[in-house]
Amino acid sequence: MDRKHFIRGMSAMLGAVVFGPVLTACGSGGDDSLNTIAEAGVTGDTTLTSTGLDEIEIAGLKFMREEEKLAHDVYATLFNTWGAEIFSNIAASETAHTEAVLGQIELYGIEDPAEGNPVGVFEDPYLQALYDKLIAMGSVSLIEGLKVGALIEETDIVDIREKMEDTDEASILQVYQNLLCGSYEHLQAFDKALRANGVSYQSQVITQEEWDAIVAGTASCTA
Ligand code: ZN
Ligand code: ZN
Repeated sequence: MDRKHFIRGMSAMLGAVVFGPVLTACGSGGDDSLNTIAEAGVTGDTTLTSTGLDEIEIAGLKFMREEEKLAHDVYATLFNTWGAEIFSNIAASETAHTEAVLGQIELYGIEDPAEGNPVGVFEDPYLQALYDKLIAMGSVSLIEGLKVGALIEETDIVDIREKMEDTDEASILQVYQNLLCGSYEHLQAFDKALRANGVSYQSQVITQEEWDAIVAGTASCTA
């Protein structure tokens, strides 16, 4: 078993002090018997862990925990730069999102990848690089900052949908569904702000048809 020692509810208090050390050391060499149990024989390569989730579900929760933190951290930083309330309002919503994912991480006894990490610091190197890039882009002007918001939300929508396909756990699906509906609302808000500044945003990640349907309110986040 490689289930690690886990401290519930401490992340907020630990702050920046405990940044990052322990996370990569384990995970090789586990040969416990659970690994041989395939789920209902459907996918023989699905390994269960001590959490009861498979590795893809665990990776999905960890990724979404940090991706929602990324959204919060970018918006909080861009609010400091530009002072536009849209960033502080949506940052507050992203706090709720990343904490909702944390709730699942704690429920299943998974190590929190964001524990102790301050704004702008991520365990996942892809998300770290993305954060750095988005801050550079969004620091150019308020409009570029709003475009960064739009880009984050359409990226989030694709990633959440992908993670939803990777799990059949009701509690995780419920959280992902809430995140997805939140992203629809945020995307609408950034689109509206961009239009108010004379900008018609061209989608980068989802199709333009889907973008148009979301901002028009004709696409349902629960469909
Ligand atoms: Zn979110
Ligand atoms: Zn969002």
